[in-house]
Amino acid sequence: MTDLVAPREAEIVYETEEPVLYETRGAIAVLTMNRPGFGNTQNSQMTYALDQLFLRAVNDDAVRVIVLRGAGKHFSSGHDIGTPGRDVTSSWPDRKMPWYDHANKPGAEFNYAREQEVYLGMCRRWRDLPKPTIACVQGACIAGGLMLAWVCDLIIASDDAFFADPVLRMGIPGVEYFAHPFELHPRIAKEFLMLGERMPAARAYQMGMVNRIAPRDQLEAETFAVAEKLAQLPRFGLMLAKQAINQIEDIQGKRTGMDTVFQTHHLAHAHNDLISGSHLAGHDAKSMAKANKGE
Ligand code: ZN
Repeated sequence: MTDLVAPREAEIVYETEEPVLYETRGAIAVLTMNRPGFGNTQNSQMTYALDQLFLRAVNDDAVRVIVLRGAGKHFSSGHDIGTPGRDVTSSWPDRKMPWYDHANKPGAEFNYAREQEVYLGMCRRWRDLPKPTIACVQGACIAGGLMLAWVCDLIIASDDAFFADPVLRMGIPGVEYFAHPFELHPRIAKEFLMLGERMPAARAYQMGMVNRIAPRDQLEAETFAVAEKLAQLPRFGLMLAKQAINQIEDIQGKRTGMDTVFQTHHLAHAHNDLISGSHLAGHDAKSMAKANKGE
């Protein structure tokens, strides 16, 4: 019987020391995910950098609006499940939520502790930042990428953007930040979740998940035009408006619903660990598809 302790990854090779770039343009802070060679997949290095830079923008009184975007062709193709910089077994001493260290934990505790911290916990924190946020989305916005777009107050997408949560193919019932039935009508959310197909920007707009669509070459201009408008509005009023909507969503069950589905998500992770004998296979598409077919 395996004890299901995650083995250390052979060697973590970060391709950049700056997984997220930060700049300000007047009253607008711009966070740019900077792993374009890997579709801006999110490793822990990037997640902790995002957290640090979101807080930097919040703490800078000159910043009134925050824009989140991705360098290169894609906004984000999800969590890192296989680049040389995949660092799921690494300890992060300066945890934010704070959860205890997952890295040396056995069984289901490993994924549970890690994902409470870096996925559910941090996404909720970013969703409730006291300044307006805009996701500027081009190309792929997949799985963990969706989580980053969804935590923003507004989503502005290029006409070639697409959205998908295909993790059911790994036996997992959706990403950790389970906003699906709040982002989409439940009937559409089921289609999105069950089939895992790409939803083009035009349909996402039609379904109310995206605020505006712009041609690719005008995406940046459109995003910054909206950001400039927000920057002119009263800071405290904007924060109160944001808080009002977020609190109503939570009264409607968003927060408790996410807590409930998080347990379900981890039942699926534990199931995958049991049938594969490995934590690290728990997010690996090929091995999970095979295992879930009983092969
Ligand atoms: Zn997970």
